[in-house]
Amino acid sequence: MAQTHDFQRICFVHYHELGLKGKNRSTFERQLMRNIEGLITDNFVEHVGRISGRIVVYLQPDATYQQAEDLLTQLSMIPGTARVSAGFQVGRNINSMIEAAKIALHEVDDFYTWKVQARRAHTDFEINSMDMNAIIGEALVNEFPDKKVKMKNPDVEVRVEVVQAHAYIFARSIQGIGGLPVGTAGKVVCLLSSGIDSPVAMWRMARRGATCIGVHFSGRPMTQATSEYLVDDIGHVLEKFGAVARIYIVPIGEYQREIAACVPQGLRVVMYRRLMMRVAEKIAHMEGAKALVTGESLGQVASQTLDNLAATHEAVDMQILRPLIGNDKLEIIAEAQRIGTFDISNNPAPDCCTLFMPRNPETHAKMPEVLEAEKLYDWKSWIDEIASEVTYTEYNCPTSYAYRNRIRSQGHTAQN
Ligand code: ATP
Ligand code: MG
Repeated sequence: MAQTHDFQRICFVHYHELGLKGKNRSTFERQLMRNIEGLITDNFVEHVGRISGRIVVYLQPDATYQQAEDLLTQLSMIPGTARVSAGFQVGRNINSMIEAAKIALHEVDDFYTWKVQARRAHTDFEINSMDMNAIIGEALVNEFPDKKVKMKNPDVEVRVEVVQAHAYIFARSIQGIGGLPVGTAGKVVCLLSSGIDSPVAMWRMARRGATCIGVHFSGRPMTQATSEYLVDDIGHVLEKFGAVARIYIVPIGEYQREIAACVPQGLRVVMYRRLMMRVAEKIAHMEGAKALVTGESLGQVASQTLDNLAATHEAVDMQILRPLIGNDKLEIIAEAQRIGTFDISNNPAPDCCTLFMPRNPETHAKMPEVLEAEKLYDWKSWIDEIASEVTYTEYNCPTSYAYRNRIRSQGHTAQN
């Protein structure tokens, strides 16, 4: 069907948790809108707006069903979205609404029962909600003779909402990822290996609204840069959701070699971790971040016993958050698959920890022994030295300055 400006594909973004935030609501809404604007860069999107407590993404007049589908999937993964629907904005006349309702319902696959749920925000529209239900419902009964109307818990609700100058019609609807918009919860530094767990930990913090900075320790120059490339690939997956602003690459191969040469074998891993924590804390201070985040899960490997977690934590003052601490590996894998980082993380890469791995790592490190071993090398002078040699890559995160400046220089602004 030819689409005029009065018959336009849209995606609706509904947000629940934001509604609970009282006075902060408008800040959260604006942030979510800005994030959607910044993250959805497809050229078939026309603009982003706000209608009656929802965000509306308007597609170009010639946008296809498939483009709307892809957009729906992408929107559903942006932190802060509770539900996302695809449909149409049409003029305020009942025939256009019927037409749009038919197409919207045809675009839902796999349903048997349905009902119409109409609502008018203003009583100045001449047909009341009950009558709209009846008129549109009748047209759909004729259009879908094999399907069945069901008032309670139907497979699909065809929603028709008359708001201001337009009517909004949608039927296809999927659950969003939930959480809070990135940029509403401050900044954290995530220790990001190229493994399965830490990208999931980072994603979870982003889902709670944190702006995430990654820090990856590589074994260079003692290893190849493979893990660095994998981490960059992970960054490109996470940036689709605004879940990463910047990733620091920190080569510590030489320092690990020195640790391996002088501390008792069993303590090596704890010592590497303490060094990583200290450098990460330094970067967190530089970044103005308020917490360190790891992908540790209790008891998963030798370095993740309560004793070893404590021995690692002792090296820094900053709080360490471990969003996966109570998760089983299979749950973490399922989440990594859903986010899209699993296949990358599943590639073997020697990172700094596989280098100089001891045969029998200590599972219950004792603090006095750890502190004694740490006297064997000059870690204090290392921290600044290592921090002065880091490099970083910027990712598309709507809350980071570089990104905002780029958007501004392109003359791209959110519309209200
Ligand atoms: P992951 O799957 O995240 O690599 P893991 O199961 O391999 O975790 P460990 O090797 O004990 O477990 O790492 C625990 C945590 O320490 C990681 O989740 C990550 O936060 C951090 N970490 C480990 N290695 C690195 C690294 N090379 N660079 C940055 N952080 C790291
Ligand atoms: Mg690992």
